[in-house]
Amino acid sequence: SRSSASLFKVSKEQALRNARQLYEKERADQKSHIHMIVIGHVDAGKSTLMGHLLYDTGNVSQRVMHKHEQESKKLGKQSFMYAWVLDETGEERARGITMDVGQSRIETKTKIVTLLDAPGHKDFIPNMISGATQADVALLVVDATRGEFESGFELGGQTREHAILVRSLGVNQLGVVINKLDTVGWSQERFNEIVTKLKAFLKQAGFKESDVTFTPCSGLTGENLTKQAQESGLTSWYSGPHLLDVIENFKIPERAIDKPMRMSVSDIYKGTGSGFCISGRVETGVLCLNDKVLVGASREQAQVKSLTMDEFPQTSVFAGDQVSVTLPAVDINNVTVGCIICDPQTPIPVTTRFQARIIVFNVKVPITMGFPVLLHHQSLIEPAVVCKLTASIHKSTGEVVKKKPRCLGNNSCALVELETSRPICIERYADFKELGRVMLRVAGVTIAAGMVTKIR
Ligand code: GDP
Repeated sequence: SRSSASLFKVSKEQALRNARQLYEKERADQKSHIHMIVIGHVDAGKSTLMGHLLYDTGNVSQRVMHKHEQESKKLGKQSFMYAWVLDETGEERARGITMDVGQSRIETKTKIVTLLDAPGHKDFIPNMISGATQADVALLVVDATRGEFESGFELGGQTREHAILVRSLGVNQLGVVINKLDTVGWSQERFNEIVTKLKAFLKQAGFKESDVTFTPCSGLTGENLTKQAQESGLTSWYSGPHLLDVIENFKIPERAIDKPMRMSVSDIYKGTGSGFCISGRVETGVLCLNDKVLVGASREQAQVKSLTMDEFPQTSVFAGDQVSVTLPAVDINNVTVGCIICDPQTPIPVTTRFQARIIVFNVKVPITMGFPVLLHHQSLIEPAVVCKLTASIHKSTGEVVKKKPRCLGNNSCALVELETSRPICIERYADFKELGRVMLRVAGVTIAAGMVTKIR
């Protein structure tokens, strides 16, 4: 029977070619998947825009839309009907704001886009961080209304903060939506003014000019969302892509198939027959039936005896797949939620201490040496302490601002060392993007997020 050992017994180049060919042969006809976060100042129109986009792409039924329309009419808030597609809970409706990172999907010609809708309210930045750590690309929504763009961008608004945050968490493709252009009579001058200001800022924040687009829209009227612009005020000067095209044109993040196999475990349950069943996501590489693997920090060796995806048996699965495996005869104590299963030839580092570049939000007391946190890494939640404050660094440029700072307050960016109580499996962000992101939480609130830079 086939196992990936046979794929990797050949030269490294040949092995990579084999893995890629196997993937292309088995998955030729499937759409690629992308995770998109929507960011921007509160009231920029994010929910309305995304609700309208979901409706226009046929992802919300007429029936549901009709229900939202009726309810919003009753409350005299009809302009909210699209926003409600995303805000499903009553509390959010009553307050008229989006609170958590809700999820929805849009299917385009070539892509399945999972939306991570980010809240705009200031207190909710911690929720946005958890969305941003999963995002491949971002849409930044700004309100073109006179005075509103300015308050969201210059006067303590969240436009800058959000853009810097997603960039810090590794997102590099950004679609900027210049929204609510209906409120300024579709003015080209206003559009250009905003683009000029944002361009300069985004460059400074570390975005490459070629990875950023600017699209004029109205989320409320639906102008330029999924169809070529119709409004004469806009068509007189704009003939570029509509928003759905922008989304369609995002580059697909490479599935890291050519890397050593890593699977993160998100669930463990008793299977039928012997052993138990483990489900999770293949983060990198290829996993085949009968492959030998190492389990978690214990590095116990096991063999893959069954492999399924959506309940269907598979002979091989790839980076990005959500799968279930059985590993007979493995010690149950060695398999835990959050642990990583890896390829024995190039195993994942196991450590209790590593350095991370973090960005700090929402701490009530500043972070000092010895600060206790809960470390979140994929599905792993592990007690840890901040055991060293190495340097505070500039948010956009990454330059060291101060060595060995005494404490770290809100909105600071820093290099710190973290120590976990038990050994964990972790990778550097530079080596494995998928396994090099962490979040720090205290009492249910995310206080920092970042990337692993060094492993002890
Ligand atoms: P969010 O906080 O960014 O999610 O913003 P919402 O989608 O809740 O919108 C905030 C307000 O702006 C609501 O009253 C919307 O009806 C209004 N709004 C949203 N998009 C547009 C637009 O394109 N044009 C106009 N004129 N108003 C809009």
